[in-house]
This record gives sequence, C-alpha cells and structure tokens, in this order.
Amino acid sequence: MNISAPVSENQADEEYQDSSEKPPAPCSVKPQTAIISDKSRRFLHTYFPQATEAQWNDWRWQIRNRFRTKAEIERVLHLSDSETRALEHGKKGFPVAITPYYMSLLDPDDPNQPLRRCVIPVSEEYDISPEEKVDPLSEDRDSPVKGLVHRYPNRVLFLSTDFCSTACRYCTRSRLIGATHHECKHDYWDKAIQYIAEHEEVQDVVVSGGDPLTLPTETLEKLLARLRAIPHVSIIRLGTKTTAVLPQRITTRLVNMVAKYHPVFVSIHATHPDELTPEMKAACERLANAGMPIGSQTVLLKGVNDDPETMRKLMMGLLSFRVKPYYIYQCDPVPGSRHFRTPVQTGLDIIKHLRGFISGYAVPHYVIDAPNGGGKVPLLPNYVDGVDGENLRLHNYADKSYVYPDVFREGI
Ligand code: SF4
Repeated sequence: MNISAPVSENQADEEYQDSSEKPPAPCSVKPQTAIISDKSRRFLHTYFPQATEAQWNDWRWQIRNRFRTKAEIERVLHLSDSETRALEHGKKGFPVAITPYYMSLLDPDDPNQPLRRCVIPVSEEYDISPEEKVDPLSEDRDSPVKGLVHRYPNRVLFLSTDFCSTACRYCTRSRLIGATHHECKHDYWDKAIQYIAEHEEVQDVVVSGGDPLTLPTETLEKLLARLRAIPHVSIIRLGTKTTAVLPQRITTRLVNMVAKYHPVFVSIHATHPDELTPEMKAACERLANAGMPIGSQTVLLKGVNDDPETMRKLMMGLLSFRVKPYYIYQCDPVPGSRHFRTPVQTGLDIIKHLRGFISGYAVPHYVIDAPNGGGKVPLLPNYVDGVDGENLRLHNYADKSYVYPDVFREGI
C-alpha cells in the first residue's frame, strides 16, 4: 500500500469531491489523506496516463470513466470465449459497467477470479432456467406507489435511483438498473414521500436503488431532509455498494451531510475478501467516524464466496473495518443466475463453520428472501438432537453433545 503525503483540508476535500460542489458544512469528520493502493496506482498510470491522482480520487471521474463495452474491457482483460460471447451478445437490458477502481482489482488473465466473475458477463447469463423470474421477490406487487416497496409492518424500501456505478451480474433488481444516471427524474419521489408521511406505522426507511450514494450530495440531502422531517420515521438506512466499487464516493462532505440526519444506518454490499482494500477500509472508517452504524450484506455465489474459509476472511475483515456482518443472502433466482446459485446446504454449512469458530459479532444471519414476497426467512443449522423426558439434547459448534434441563417446557 502506498499512502500519499498528507494534504491540507481544502486540498483533501477537492481530491475526494467534484469541485462543483459547495464547501463542506462544519463537520465532525475532518478531511483525510487520499489513499491509492499500489495496484490501483499502476493501473491508473497504465490505462489513464493523462489522468491525475486527484481525478482518480474524484468519484465523478470514476463514474465518467467506467468500462462499459467489449472494446473498453478488452484493453485490460484477456477475455475468455464465454466473456467474449456475452459482451458481443448485444443488448439485454442489464448494463455492463465497472468503475476504473474496481477494474484495477480484477485479474487480467483469470476469468475465474471471484471479483471478475461478479462484474464481467459470461454466456451462461443468457441461459434462462424455468425457476427464474424477472422480479423474484415480487417487489413490484408490494409497491403501493412507484419507487416504494411496503412489505414488512414498520418499514419500507425506497428505490431512490435506478443507477449503480458497477453492475453486479447477479443483481436481484437487474430489471430496474439503468445504464445512465437519471438523476433529475425523481418526479416519483413526491408520491413515495407522501405515502410514508401518511402511514404512521412506517418507522424505518431503507433508501436503496440502484445505489443512492451515486446521487449528487445535494440531491441525496433533499431526500434525507424530507424523510427526517416525517415525525414517525425513526430510522433511515442507506444501502450501498460504493464502499467496495467506488470508495472514493465516501467523502468527508458526504458523511458530514448524512450525519445531520441521524440516526442513519448504512448497509454495505460486500462480496469477497479481495474487496477489502485500504481504500475500502478508509471509506468504512469515514462512515463509522461520522456516527453511522454499518452492517454488511453478502450474496452467496458459486465460485465466488461459497466456501467457509472465504466467508470467514470476509466476515472477520469486515469486522476489522468496523462493519457488522449482517446478512448472507441465498442468491435469488433472477434470469441467468443459475451459474451463481448454490444449494441451500452450502449456506448452512458456511454458518456451521462460522458460528463458534469466529467472533459472534462476525457471524451474519443466513437468509432466503422467499419467492413471491415472503420476505426474509432465517436459516440455521440444526443444533437440537432431540428430547429425553425433561431434557433437551443439543450439540455445540464443535459437535460435542450436551443436555439442557428444559423443566419449564409445556407438556412435561
Ligand atoms: S450494487 Fe446492488 S443494486 Fe447495484 S447492481 Fe449490484 S446488486 Fe444490483
């Protein structure tokens, strides 16, 4: 890792933020030294020789310079036949997009590298299985107004934008993700906010998308301010993948803006330990230092993170970044996802190898988001072996047997 020399507050702010934005508000988190790891710096100098490190650290530059076409991608990667076919396949609706930063983490020669599999399409993406559905969670059915999903009693999902900086090939909402930022077309927000204001049972608003942190800071602030002004909204959550694919976005100005609307929680999407770079660590620390509790969400993916050791490294690494591992999701059956999906037993085995073996704080819930709108169903390995009279027979994480005197159990 190579850390640049310290810079002044103003300089640092410019390095992290588009210069067209206003100066930061008085803040609790001070501007910090910009970080570029050696690997990313080499990539910058090789593929963007005209660009400066300040540009690299500007999240808008990262978005403007995303890799989106076969021609752009094969400048960097030696494409496999399957990748070539997929990139030549033409329009499928779901875009291809990779930030230069995330591209710098990919292995140019290994199409099976986990991070590469997450963002470079392969021809299997075009094989549709009978069980796959465009909207596998039936979110559209539970949408009372455009951009809002109201499924659980006290919380709603607010789909704030259709844009992501980097398109994950297994995306549950691939039906919604657009290729370009329609940041000015938020005419549906009014009705969604009005719905929340009229439903006093809504205490928790999960702002997702797309990725809400790809919105301009001012636009996101308008949304947060309107949500915070609704008296019965206690909790606001932001769901984002930027910490992994665009950590430059987590600027001092952003976190200090968000901190004005506390309590705000952040759910970050993390997939593999190779994402745990110094850049991502700095982004997570910046969020945490601004008072945001951070949880992680990970999709279980075949050939990417479907083994206990990879998950163990990811979960412990996240915890060391001050992120509480929150969910491992069974991969949803979206069209063309068969090559990513695992048996449910794989997830149960992973939890069995985490629980008891690593810090309890690092063990997430393993859930299936039930098809047809059933919501999240938690799954646990079975630790109960049976009942003998008033005794409950159990085994622990190390498969040692124990008996608990369950004397208050009904029916004894
Ligand atoms: S960040 Fe989330 S919403 Fe965006 S493409 Fe990836 S999985 Fe889909």
